Amino acid sequence: MVVGADGAQSIVNKQLTDYKIDLQHYGGAIRAYYLQVEGLETDCTEVYISKKHLPGYFWLFPLPNQQANAGFGMLSEHISKHRINLKEAFYRFIEASPMLKDKLKNSTLDGKIVGFGLPFGSKQVQVSGAHFLLLGDAASLVDPVTGEGIGNAVYSGKLAAEHLLECFKQQRFDAAFNESYSQKLYAYFGTEFRQRTFLQRSFTKFPWLLDVGMVLGNTPVVKDYLKKFA
Ligand SMILES: Cc1cc2nc3c(=O)[nH]c(=O)nc-3n(C[C@H](O)[C@H](O)[C@H](O)COP(=O)(O)OP(=O)(O)OC[C@H]3O[C@@H](n4cnc5c(N)ncnc54)[C@H](O)[C@@H]3O)c2cc1C
Repeated sequence: MVVGADGAQSIVNKQLTDYKIDLQHYGGAIRAYYLQVEGLETDCTEVYISKKHLPGYFWLFPLPNQQANAGFGMLSEHISKHRINLKEAFYRFIEASPMLKDKLKNSTLDGKIVGFGLPFGSKQVQVSGAHFLLLGDAASLVDPVTGEGIGNAVYSGKLAAEHLLECFKQQRFDAAFNESYSQKLYAYFGTEFRQRTFLQRSFTKFPWLLDVGMVLGNTPVVKDYLKKFA
């Protein structure tokens, strides 16, 4: 069995399936590390949203010793349609935000700004076949709203490991048998991805929903409810 856990540019995926990047279901992001960032709250992750770049957001995640992980990501369809240079847009975003500008005014970039692809789970793809399974980013399991994929990758690893044990137990490695991994994966993630895709599209069409969400999210009842998931 070949287990493709080789990320967004998965060679296993490229060699064994007909996967093609679909810009409506793919994200582009860049990430940078900064030193001497001011005004960071160490127990907060900061997210900045601009109506110009929906669906997408700028993040500033605190690290120890006044360091931060900063990045900017959005739907690839938007990047392509508006011919966005992510690096330039990243710097322009900082310039346009008084808060970010202030926090980063005395900071220095640590290393290079690096770009990545994000294969969203908003479209079901082939994740298994004869003698192979795909998981994590190789199986397009990134959340289409937040761009998070670590938890989903870990969970798909668990499902794949359980499936592999069954393969060896039953000495079955064929596509029909491996299809049960695909079914279990989408039985687990399918509804969540459909809901997240609906949210992603809604925020793009009706940006005011974000304002409503922020106001509601700040009420004590909703805050307490959300803390249960923290
Ligand atoms: C800028 C950015 C920020 C992100 N922030 C978050 C976040 O805050 N929270 C979150 O949950 N998710 C985040 N994600 C998404 C998250 O990083 C991925 O969804 C997650 O890492 C997927 O895990 P994976 O194991 O499938 O792939 P990867 O983490 O990409 O791991 C794949 C591994 O395979 C190796 N590999 C590739 N090709 C080969 C080869 N030919 N031979 C041998 N090894 C190979 C690679 O070196 C790599 O180690 C972010 C993504 C980006 C791009």
